[in-house]
Amino acid sequence: MNPQILIVDDDDSIRDSINEYLSLSGYDTDTAANAEEALERLEVKPFDVVITDIVMNGMDGLKLTEHIKAHYDTSVIIITGYIRDYTYETAIKKGADDFVFKPFRLEELLLRLKRVLRERRIARERNEILEEFKILSITDHLTQLYNSRHFHHQLQNEIIRHNRYQRPLSLLMLDIDHFKRFNDVYGHIEGDRILSSIGKAITGVLRTPDTAYRYGGEEFTVILPETAIESALKAASRIKEEVETDVFRSNDHGDPITLSIGVTEYCFGESATEFMKRADKAMYMSKSQGRNCISRI
Ligand code: GH3
Ligand code: MG
Ligand code: MG
Repeated sequence: MNPQILIVDDDDSIRDSINEYLSLSGYDTDTAANAEEALERLEVKPFDVVITDIVMNGMDGLKLTEHIKAHYDTSVIIITGYIRDYTYETAIKKGADDFVFKPFRLEELLLRLKRVLRERRIARERNEILEEFKILSITDHLTQLYNSRHFHHQLQNEIIRHNRYQRPLSLLMLDIDHFKRFNDVYGHIEGDRILSSIGKAITGVLRTPDTAYRYGGEEFTVILPETAIESALKAASRIKEEVETDVFRSNDHGDPITLSIGVTEYCFGESATEFMKRADKAMYMSKSQGRNCISRI
């Protein structure tokens, strides 16, 4: 999409000449005769850059800049003929991205506009990369579930929320049964495929607020906010059945893949470590009861 530019000036001839020049240069332009009109335009359509005069009837260009910077992701180039009253620093402090003194050549304005647009593009690309890194830093690459770093962070957040609002909170700890044996027989690549399928099976049966994590090698956790133990047990059953049917079916070798699951509900005031230890203990109870089952503490 072409960059969208809004030109704000109460001087018709200046406004029209900028408008014509920038349109001919390939930009989509719009005009406003004062700041109030500019704000109306901004309400209905996003603009990349606003080019505004400072001295206008009603709201001045500096106030307009301040408002734009507080409410929109829009860059501002300020134009002024009153060099002595309005310094470059004042305009920049209000958030302006550049400053042009009247009289100016349209070619100069165009160059400044191009620079502002280039900076916007670079900032956008940088934000996209940062966002990507943020996602990578909390994602387990094999299963695409969240990783253990994010688990600890989220568990802490949920505990704080629980202690503030006294809402129920449950935790599942899940471990694949005899997975070493599976790897030894079918190899690690096939094992990895199972891990990935289990990740999908878990997320496939969870409700929106629930989050699943690959805690370690073949261990998973699920945080269930707003969930008391009875509902958590039901979620655990859904996962167990899904893995028994789905992962089993998708496994060409026909060897059963099963999970041992521990379920526990948070007790007011306990630490994240204590909470996790109880879930872990419940999971080991399932192991000692013969595996492929669910235990609660
Ligand atoms: P149990 O029923 O007692 O849990 O037995 P287990 O064999 O599943 O448990 P153990 O802790 O002895 O072994 C875990 C195995 O999980 C060992 C390792 O081969 C496997 N594993 C851990 N991480 C990965 C991984 O990223 N990929 C694959 N393919 N296997 C993994
Ligand atoms: Mg294990
Ligand atoms: Mg295991």
